[in-house]
Amino acid sequence: MKNMNWIERQLYARGITSPKILEAFRKVPREFFLPENLKNFADDDTPLPIGYGQTTSQPFIIALMISYLDLTGNEKVLEIGTGSGYQTAILSYLAREVYSIEVVPDLAEKARQKIEKLGIKNVYIFVGDGTKGLPEYAPYDAILVSAYAPHVPPPLIEQLSPSGGRLIIPLGNKTLQHLFLFKKNGEKIEKIKLDPCVFVPLKGEYGS
Ligand code: SAH
Repeated sequence: MKNMNWIERQLYARGITSPKILEAFRKVPREFFLPENLKNFADDDTPLPIGYGQTTSQPFIIALMISYLDLTGNEKVLEIGTGSGYQTAILSYLAREVYSIEVVPDLAEKARQKIEKLGIKNVYIFVGDGTKGLPEYAPYDAILVSAYAPHVPPPLIEQLSPSGGRLIIPLGNKTLQHLFLFKKNGEKIEKIKLDPCVFVPLKGEYGS
């Protein structure tokens, strides 16, 4: 019930009305993905530190990014920046398969263990530079990037499905970033500017 309250207050009341997305948030306990000393803050709609100078994103922003991807449940999704694995776990309930890349090996390993403990079977976590994507399993129906870059990394556009693939990414600099949605149909790439946001920098070859 406690879990349901913050979801209604922070997500539903702010416009996240998709029953599937709300249900996915109810299924995943955020405190399980937080460090021991921060578990009491799980209901706060703020980013929280997860070590290595990284943060787990604000739940509202996670919900917003996921809602822009318009997932039907049948998609192969690529996530860049596994972090704590919290968003990965939520995506697992909204997509067919989730491939997730994290550059910090220890974060990737912790996230992998937690996701396994929750009994989630459709998530595959990799260590590496996510700005290069994961060409082995491409194309992806949806790609979600959890850290900001100055420009969209070209490999991610390449690895997006040409039949309606969607990519959501924060673009900008340290002081000003916006979420951008890219839609790919055949050769055509549509770029849509959305909400202002604050993320940690995307590292790697095509990062910040
Ligand atoms: N959605 C995550 C938040 C991740 S914060 C959560 O809810 O926990 C962003 C993450 O991206 C960090 O863990 C950081 O280490 C990772 N990251 C940064 N640059 C990366 C890159 N080039 N490839 C893969 N992961 C990267």
